[in-house]
Amino acid sequence: MPSVRCYDCGRSADLADRKRCRCGEPLWVETDPEAFEWPTGRNPGMWRYTDLLPVDPPSGVGAAAGGTPLVRTPRLDVGGVQSFLKDEGQNPTGSFKDRGSAVGVASALDRGVERIGTVSHGNMAMSTAANATGAGLECVVCVPADIPDERLSHIAHYDPEILRIEGDYGRLYEVSLGIEEVEFVNSDTPLRVAGQKTVALEICEAFSPETPDAIVLPVSSGGQLGGIWKALHELRTAGLLEEFPRLYAAQAAACDPIVRAFEADEKEVRAIEGGETVAYSIANADPPGGNRALAALRDTGGGAVSVPDGATRAAQQRLAREGGFRVEASSAVAYAGLERLVERDEIGSGERVVTILTGHGFKESHGIDVDARTVSLDELASVL
Ligand SMILES: *Cc1c(COP(=O)(O)O)cnc(C)c1O
Ligand SMILES: [Zn+2]
Repeated sequence: MPSVRCYDCGRSADLADRKRCRCGEPLWVETDPEAFEWPTGRNPGMWRYTDLLPVDPPSGVGAAAGGTPLVRTPRLDVGGVQSFLKDEGQNPTGSFKDRGSAVGVASALDRGVERIGTVSHGNMAMSTAANATGAGLECVVCVPADIPDERLSHIAHYDPEILRIEGDYGRLYEVSLGIEEVEFVNSDTPLRVAGQKTVALEICEAFSPETPDAIVLPVSSGGQLGGIWKALHELRTAGLLEEFPRLYAAQAAACDPIVRAFEADEKEVRAIEGGETVAYSIANADPPGGNRALAALRDTGGGAVSVPDGATRAAQQRLAREGGFRVEASSAVAYAGLERLVERDEIGSGERVVTILTGHGFKESHGIDVDARTVSLDELASVL
């Protein structure tokens, strides 16, 4: 059974007993990175890093998580800053959530847990359902009662049990972690975060022995950011990373509690009254991993940036029209965030920056105006 540890107060616990520390903060799965070296083995995708994971490589769809491309994209450079994109849309269900779902499911199998669940109506629900069924586990997905059917259909393809929850959906995260009948793998639970850290291992290995100057990512619960921070510390302990890349959190301006706390120099993120945003996947007004996210930004010398919806849509278009990457709005928040950070001189000319494109845009239904002429076959050559 993996043991878990609090980044803040240092208390350890057994994973079976606790998903959050007694002090209220999220927990990390403990690892032993001292002797870790860049792997030479042939495990697929994220399973290259099994030495830093609490489970062995699984079979099935979980084995297909991670190993996504990191590409240099000169056409998407911003004012002299060299742009690199990490294309997490290439995971089996189109987002980085598959890394964490794969670890959560593999660990459940190991321990004889038969039912897992999640509190989500988006990528995490899809990913958890896909990974559960791929391993022969039952899956329960809790969604808000008023969710549109169209959003549910993406989840329903994998045929989990879907429960529409009436009442305060915001409280469900906490309530679900106390339920014993089903093991919930929520956004900042230790096993999910253990999987999600592998994106940073891949980025750092791709740059090694050098290091990117900064990583910009969209942040909601703070789970991914917490995982990335953990990975950086593991690599430093292993002697594979001298300097940390600066980590930058991008949030939608309508729902940006982590940015507000960062700018106000607070140690804790306070819940806010969040508004509507096109980046609904990252609209968490009371992020469970918010304090840890703040600590990560400060420890690495990074920062935080809010992005209004207009800039997000513009970035989404630029990524597709100039770069060929179709991403969901939440991912575009990160690229728009990069543009603002360069404008504010927090990221400077000549620096090498990785933007994490967290989720594919195919499942987003917002339309665009299509411009297409009708031409007869005989005229084709003459109109071109
Ligand atoms: C879940 C999600 C995020 C936010 O990740 P957290 O770990 O909750 O901070 C960002 N982008 C996409 C596409 C997501 O699905
Ligand atoms: Zn603690």
